[in-house]
Amino acid sequence: MPDARFLVVFDADSTLIRNEVIELIADEAGRGPEVAAATEAAMRGEVDFATSLRSRVAALRGVPVAGFARVLARIEPTPGVRELIAAIHDRGGIAAVVSGGFHEILDTVAPQLGVDVWRANRLAVQDGALTGVVDGEIVDAEGKAAALTAWAAELGVPLRRTIAVGDGANDLRMMAVAGLGVAFNAKPAVRRQADIVAARVDLAELIPLLP
Ligand SMILES: [Mg+2]
Repeated sequence: MPDARFLVVFDADSTLIRNEVIELIADEAGRGPEVAAATEAAMRGEVDFATSLRSRVAALRGVPVAGFARVLARIEPTPGVRELIAAIHDRGGIAAVVSGGFHEILDTVAPQLGVDVWRANRLAVQDGALTGVVDGEIVDAEGKAAALTAWAAELGVPLRRTIAVGDGANDLRMMAVAGLGVAFNAKPAVRRQADIVAARVDLAELIPLLP
């Protein structure tokens, strides 16, 4: 990647988009409410993220990959996301996403929203259906912070010119590493530890924070 003036790293679920993708995929298995309750607990920071993700992904076993089309159709971008990403680009910045969700969905959604680079978990597939296992290393709170640090180094951006935006407990590490940590639409534990709390669900309100 070429050098950039600054870097903004977003969480995906409930930050860049209004949904929690794992709940939408769980709906395809008829297990939406159960997975939604477990996701809520993980985002409040009550349980270990990786352990929780493994057990939630196990509930997705048997969902056909063909069902991803319905999941994609239900994704709702967060208000203001296109305006904010356009403003990042106008000012010479890079928009990145690191997600405890899944490449299988983000690989379609991220480019549509103008995101430059993204990283997420991968769902193992066999015979056209999910096996209920996460493929490879899990992107957890440390993984998110590591992605932000690695992208900043690649782009020649000092950490003080990075911004991390998220809503969940697994965003706190990257928010701590970033020059500015923004709690967006966030859980109470996340609000308490953020540099800035964005209370309204409108990403365009972050434009004045850009360097
Ligand atoms: Mg989130």
